[in-house]
Amino acid sequence: MSQIQSIRGMGDILPPDSAAWQALESLLRDLLISYGYEEIRVPLVERTELFQRSIGEVTDIVEKEMYTFEDRNGLSLTLRPEITAGIVRAGISNGMLHNQRQKLWSSGPVFRYEKPQKGRYRQFHQFDVEALGFEGPDVDAELIIITNRIWKALGIDAIELELNSLGTPESRVRYRQALTDYFEPRQDELDKDSQDRLHRNPMRILDSKNPEMKSLIADAPLITDYLDPASQEHFSMLCELLDQAGIPYRLNPRLVRGLDYYTRTVFEWVTDRLGSQGAVCSGGRYDGLIEQLGGKATPAIGWAFGVERLLDLYRESGGASPRADRDIYVVAVGDSVLQPAFKLVEQLRDARPKLKVEMNCGGGSFKSQMKRADRSGATLALILGEQEIASQSVGIKPLREDVGQINVDWSSLNAALHDYFDMKTNLN
Ligand code: AMP
Repeated sequence: MSQIQSIRGMGDILPPDSAAWQALESLLRDLLISYGYEEIRVPLVERTELFQRSIGEVTDIVEKEMYTFEDRNGLSLTLRPEITAGIVRAGISNGMLHNQRQKLWSSGPVFRYEKPQKGRYRQFHQFDVEALGFEGPDVDAELIIITNRIWKALGIDAIELELNSLGTPESRVRYRQALTDYFEPRQDELDKDSQDRLHRNPMRILDSKNPEMKSLIADAPLITDYLDPASQEHFSMLCELLDQAGIPYRLNPRLVRGLDYYTRTVFEWVTDRLGSQGAVCSGGRYDGLIEQLGGKATPAIGWAFGVERLLDLYRESGGASPRADRDIYVVAVGDSVLQPAFKLVEQLRDARPKLKVEMNCGGGSFKSQMKRADRSGATLALILGEQEIASQSVGIKPLREDVGQINVDWSSLNAALHDYFDMKTNLN
């Protein structure tokens, strides 16, 4: 029979790689909790309309990349292409935003029908942080400071912050007009995509990667020249806060981001270590989105990074992959040994719940079980054969140092393990 293939661009996360994911997830969880952010979990599937109205009809994501289908009732649903829209929808529909502020984080898979390559997948994973109800720029600075702390904690320094402000919707209207006025007489120099966008969403043209349009785009008007005074002040206060925090950034007036809902602050962390997929983390303010989705006008800002890309960058920066090592591997040779071995091991787990103990399952000779013990990465093998059962004792064999086996009585096993594990933090 033919094998069933996985879907292109949708990978499996396998051990031992999954240990690195777990370590990253737990580091992030602890860090975000320490900053006072709370976890929110929202569905992977939402009404298509949510993404059309939030991300914007004239964006790559909505035009080309969404996994959209009808359910059995004919309702149009979409696998989430990002997490922000779902969080905002949840905030509104659960009444979390009425005269309240929320600092939230979430993580999980997102789906985009992009052309898969290294660092670009169709199912990938985002970590997402949102601060709802804050006008900033203090919270803008905090969100960036958090990202900076994450890179530091992972030993990543090949990463740069690009920063820009998009102003208010009103100042953007003026800027869009300036762009239209600039591109209209040069329509012949635009590629087909950009011609399409000229009247629907001219800011998208600035996102184009087409090398033939590079110099045309380089000479286009800068958004910075169209900012309203309040946005200008908001932006310069953010810059000052970042200066004080010692976080370097590069002002990039061409950074407009691929999603429609952004206002004022936008930023992106980029690296040159990951080839063409250099965008690691991006975020920005979306002060109009909540009202646009039917809630009360509420300022908000958030960021998201792709876990795959961050882990790639971590490895590229020399970060070691943690292994899911065991502390103990239990070698139990002979059928009659199994019952008392299980009993002893379960007692050990009761006494030491944090010890990582793997029981040999699937039988095997002493030699083959010892090989498995070695491969498991365990510090010790506990050895139980018929002789040990008869004398109510257990063999302890250190696997990572060149010392011989000792035998102890079952009653003194717990005490004997102190010698090997007391210094380890994972014990109580
Ligand atoms: P975006 O929502 O497009 O701003 O993306 C946020 C982050 O998700 C990016 O900075 C990347 O780290 C990551 N990302 C975006 N698209 C992909 C993809 N197709 N595959 C893997 N990671 C992605």
